[in-house]
Amino acid sequence: MKPKPQIETLVVGPLAVCCYLVYDPETLEGVVIDPGDEVSRILSRIKEQGLKIRWILGTHGHADHIAAAGRLREALGVPFALHRADEEFFQGEGASVFLSWGFPPNPKADQVFEEGAVFEFGAYQLTVIHTPGHSPGSVCFYDGKQVVFTGDTLFVGAVGRGDLPGGDYFQMMRSIREKLLVLPEETQVFPGHDYGDWPTSTIGREKRENPFLQEGI
Ligand SMILES: [Zn+2]
Ligand SMILES: [Zn+2]
Repeated sequence: MKPKPQIETLVVGPLAVCCYLVYDPETLEGVVIDPGDEVSRILSRIKEQGLKIRWILGTHGHADHIAAAGRLREALGVPFALHRADEEFFQGEGASVFLSWGFPPNPKADQVFEEGAVFEFGAYQLTVIHTPGHSPGSVCFYDGKQVVFTGDTLFVGAVGRGDLPGGDYFQMMRSIREKLLVLPEETQVFPGHDYGDWPTSTIGREKRENPFLQEGI
């Protein structure tokens, strides 16, 4: 089996968001997932590693995950992409949600995507799994067999909030059951915040041990 893509985690900002640099170790092409803050630290890691970033991807439109995407895209000259539903919601009626928490307005996406969109870099690719519920356009990025980036939908030993504007807890739980727990059990989970003994969890372990995902709940 092909080795999994190289993954580097930078925990950024006051809400400790996991920003991921995901790349092909041979061609050094890659993507940045959830650049929530600390753009200069993200940029210097990209430069130190010599990465050729092709996209900036948001798992969802909450500002703690994408607030630095505007400055990062200016520095890198690459598109920032978000699911259509979150771009519409957070540029529209949901725009004020994070302003009150002191975040700047969301940068506008250059590209919107839907379920099944594919982002290729080197020999690797990430496919969009639309997992609405934490927000209307929350997504997970799956490499097809070994790793999944779950944003604020599934954490290690926990699940995301469903009570924020535009959110729906029951829809989120359905997304987790129907679209994440069906992935191969050995798939490694890379969440949007480090709330557990990250990054050692897998879909199988979450299925068996995550208290929010047990039968009857
Ligand atoms: Zn969120
Ligand atoms: Zn978050």
